[in-house]
Amino acid sequence: MKLKQVRFLSLALIIVSAFIAWPAHAAKKVRVITTLTDLADFTRNIGGDHVEVFSLATGIEDTHGVPMKPSFVPRMNKADLMVLVGFGLEHAFLPALLEASKNPHIQYGSAGYVDCSKGITPLGVPKSTDHSAGDVHPYGNPHVDLDPVLAKTIVQNIYDALVATAPEYQADFTQNRDAYLAKLNAKITEWQALAKPLKGVKFVSYHEEWLYFARRFGMQAFDTIELKPGVDPTPRHIQQLISTMKAEHVPIVVREPQFPEKVPKLVAEQTGATLVKLPIMPGGVPNTDTYIEMMDYILHTLHAAAPKQP
Ligand SMILES: [Zn+2]
Repeated sequence: MKLKQVRFLSLALIIVSAFIAWPAHAAKKVRVITTLTDLADFTRNIGGDHVEVFSLATGIEDTHGVPMKPSFVPRMNKADLMVLVGFGLEHAFLPALLEASKNPHIQYGSAGYVDCSKGITPLGVPKSTDHSAGDVHPYGNPHVDLDPVLAKTIVQNIYDALVATAPEYQADFTQNRDAYLAKLNAKITEWQALAKPLKGVKFVSYHEEWLYFARRFGMQAFDTIELKPGVDPTPRHIQQLISTMKAEHVPIVVREPQFPEKVPKLVAEQTGATLVKLPIMPGGVPNTDTYIEMMDYILHTLHAAAPKQP
């Protein structure tokens, strides 16, 4: 992190903390900062009235590059827990914010640093350790939260951290977690049924966002519009992509909200595929304020875009 950036954020801590405070009644609550909106939704579901949750992302951002706002710093300074996805997903913005927060409880390695990838085996771990080409997935693919079964591991990691921080609320946390997991399990059964016509269906997305999702629901992540994760497409790559998509009859192009529509639209038009815009976290498109609403939206949209059987 650049020194200038640290100074700017540190100054912001002093100035903004005078104006932004957590609500007074929140004194006895566990203060939780999450990087993404799905983590915030899980935390609210488990924590109920005992937590005060703030998400750095609003839902429309690139999960790799949530813009750093000075107002984040005083909030992080007072936080009990910092909840993140992990596998390096937040590497471009979180370390700088943690440093500026000057909060020893939530630094990397501290009990309040809640890495939700714990217990999950990553896909797509690069064989080479040379990251000079600008790959943003150096520790494997970090987009685990789009698999609702892996989301249960994330929920458990958040639950464990809440119990460790506020053991006096353990009974409530346990009850809330169990109720949420029961709801999620029922939904997973519903989503599996919706995904039946999607079995084996190939799709192209802008970013390599859907590996875990595709594995869960039996879809095939054919290729990406990006040259590689975090690297813009070249005209040559797009030409090759269009010709292989035509040859392989790839019927769906997925655009994530953080990327412009132009290239995905061109690829869909040139190949005759259906273009769908899918959120990658709650709030990415309207009416997806919770994780369950978001997954509902994703499964229903893909279901509607699935090729019809003759
Ligand atoms: Zn990524």
